[in-house]
This record gives sequence, C-alpha cells and structure tokens, in this order.
Amino acid sequence: MPYIITDLCTNDGSCVEVCPVACIHTTPDAPQHYIDPDVCIECEQCEIVCPVDAIFVDTKLPAEHMRSIEVNAAFFRKNKAEVGPVPFETAWQMVQAAHDYATQAGIAVSAAVVDESGSPIAVGRMDAADLRSTELALNKAYTSATFHVASAELVPLAREPWLRSLVVSSRGRVMAARGGIAIADGIAIIGAIGVDGGGSDELNVLCCRAGLAVLESAGH
Ligand code: SF4
Ligand code: SF4
Repeated sequence: MPYIITDLCTNDGSCVEVCPVACIHTTPDAPQHYIDPDVCIECEQCEIVCPVDAIFVDTKLPAEHMRSIEVNAAFFRKNKAEVGPVPFETAWQMVQAAHDYATQAGIAVSAAVVDESGSPIAVGRMDAADLRSTELALNKAYTSATFHVASAELVPLAREPWLRSLVVSSRGRVMAARGGIAIADGIAIIGAIGVDGGGSDELNVLCCRAGLAVLESAGH
C-alpha cells in the first residue's frame, strides 16, 4: 500500500523534507514529484505536509487519479539506473579503509558493507573491537540501506510509533543510531556501510566516510 503523488502536485518539495526513507524524487524537467512504490513504508508523513492534498495511499486514491499509480512506478523504472550492489573486492576495501581510519584514530571498530536489501557483502571486526560491535555495525548498515538515509536521521524520530513498531518487528535490526550511511548511485540506493565500536558516534561516522571515500575514488 504505497502512497501515490497525483498530478495535483505543484512541485514545492515539502514532502521530500519529511520522508524518512528518501523515496520521493523528481527531475528538473518533470511536472511533479513521484514516490518509489518499492521503498515507501507508508508512514503518512508526506500526506500530512502536502499543501495541495496531492498525495493519497493507493487504496484511497480517487478514481480520476488511478493512472497516477503507474505514473509514479514508471518514473522510477525509467530513472533508476540498472546498477548492481558494490562488488565484494570494493566492499572489502571499504571495510579496510574504515579500519585504517580507526587505527589512525586510536580506536577499534567493526565495519560492514551491505547491499540494498541489507544483506552483508563484507564485514570485518578489528582484533580489539567489542564483540557486539559486529552485529551493531551490520544493523546500522541494514537500517541505512533499507531506509535509504544515514541512520542518524532516524534518531530524532525514535519515539514515533511507526518507527518503534519497525524496531520491534525487525528484532532490533532497525536502529535509530549514528554510524550508518547509505550508498547512492544516481537516485538508486545500492547499499550502505555501517560502523560500530569507535567509542563515539562521531568517530563511527568518520570511519564510514573513510570507507565511502574508496567508492568515490573508484568513480561512484
Ligand atoms: S508515506 Fe512515508 S515513506 Fe511513503 S513516501 Fe510518504 S513520507 Fe515517504
Ligand atoms: S508536498 Fe505535495 S505539492 Fe509539494 S512536492 Fe510533495 S506532492 Fe507535490
């Protein structure tokens, strides 16, 4: 039951600001914004802020706007590049780069790179890192990959009922914590990196960025 943007949209972009999974997009030449039906988690936030009531859950879409279901889906079929996950060799280099940064900072961490579904590609725990850091790094990466945002962006939303129920139903894999960053290729999210064990959220994020620098130097 994804939400759908109809042609009533005036392109002001308010909904983009509130979407917790960053699944609302447009292009400079497009007449409206669109919701990715594969990513929307039906949280209602966009519908609440839309100034022109252009957004509906698909089950309540007025008959005259039914074609908007296909219009929204078609936008993403056309604009999402056919991109695969981060290759293992690159993912492993990202893990090692996060470890190298941690070593320079005098800390020990676990780092994980996952694909878009949150499944692990490469995971590494430094010798002195806390045992539990591996699971937490994976959880942060899973959260960023499935929500399409840095896991830190969920921290202010931690008390929202929809997020609390997702945390419970995922048995803690969904984590509202800093230390996970999504990996984007155009408007497609192809995975995420997560780091835990650095002693501070800020250091975990900096380790993530060191890992992402591997991708940037590879031209992503
Ligand atoms: S319902 Fe929630 S997840 Fe879906 S597009 Fe709107 S804000 Fe994003
Ligand atoms: S808030 Fe409403 S009018 Fe503004 S971009 Fe989103 S759907 Fe369009």
